[in-house]
Amino acid sequence: MNKKEILDILQDNTNNEQLFKKADKIRHDNVGDDVHLRGLIEFSNICKRQCKYCGLRSLNKEVERYRIQKNEIIDYVHNAVNLGYKTIVLQSGEDDYYSVNRMIEIIKLIKEFDVALTLSIGEKTYDEYREYKKAGADRYLLRIETTDKDLYKEMHPYADIENRFRCLYDLKRLGYEVGTGCLVGLPNQTLESLADDILFFKELDADMVGIGPFISHEQTPLKDYPNGDFWLALKVMALTRINMPTINIPATTAMETLNPNGRIIALQSGANVVMPNVTGTEYRAKYEIYPGKICINDKPEKCRGCIENKIKSIGRDISNDYGFHKK
Ligand code: SAH
Repeated sequence: MNKKEILDILQDNTNNEQLFKKADKIRHDNVGDDVHLRGLIEFSNICKRQCKYCGLRSLNKEVERYRIQKNEIIDYVHNAVNLGYKTIVLQSGEDDYYSVNRMIEIIKLIKEFDVALTLSIGEKTYDEYREYKKAGADRYLLRIETTDKDLYKEMHPYADIENRFRCLYDLKRLGYEVGTGCLVGLPNQTLESLADDILFFKELDADMVGIGPFISHEQTPLKDYPNGDFWLALKVMALTRINMPTINIPATTAMETLNPNGRIIALQSGANVVMPNVTGTEYRAKYEIYPGKICINDKPEKCRGCIENKIKSIGRDISNDYGFHKK
């Protein structure tokens, strides 16, 4: 689709059901009915950055900060593997404590298990990305957040959108499977810029795209702004599926936060991936990028069983392969 076609659909809410059905069919025809589960470990909530929407921004002094050490990370991996996970996602704030050498050690230990490994630890240099790849990392998640340059500057006053683009193209060049995505409903975000975001995912040739509604956090400068709209986020996701039939698309946790059935609705509107949390209960509430995060009191075992039941209830199954992007 070209920009005008995408924008026309974003502006018109009379055919949403049809759009979601079409995305669901394209998902079915191209990636099948299996849902890939990724076990998410949120290993540090310490962050040097100041993204205006994020509860983990360095200026928020009300979060109790934590770092999970190597051995404990491996315990969570072990448990996740026992629960059947075939992919581990390591996510954190931008925390310089995890130097290249520390990360390499952790990556190598995880790759002793039979799993694919995704990193989501922010903007790094080409050389750092190369070292993680050499150590065994398979995939990398880094949302562009928005491709609107002015809005990006507004949301990240001390960051540079060109560096974020540079990171994504470096990751591609290094042979990672690359996941990106955007927030939907940021203050002053336009539908036109969301159409540009979708075109960018395609231009990058992303392997995975995660779309989430913005959720307003009390301890950030955006506390007085309303949450993003669940249905608009779902439309951006469905349009992404229609334009990129073979990629992996997660039903995001933020969608479930705004709609109690959000992930199932997403799985029936183009998504084929879910990322349950496999971090220990003692850390979950502290990784508060936005409020109202689901499952903060649940153990990994419970999340695994719960999502499996939901997936089966809509006639879908859990994949038992690694879930790489099959082009
Ligand atoms: N530091 C890593 C991981 C960020 S957390 C990185 O920079 O990539 C993962 C995602 O959470 C972010 O990319 C962002 O899109 C999302 N997020 C952060 N704050 C949010 C909020 N208030 N509402 C919804 N999503 C948010």
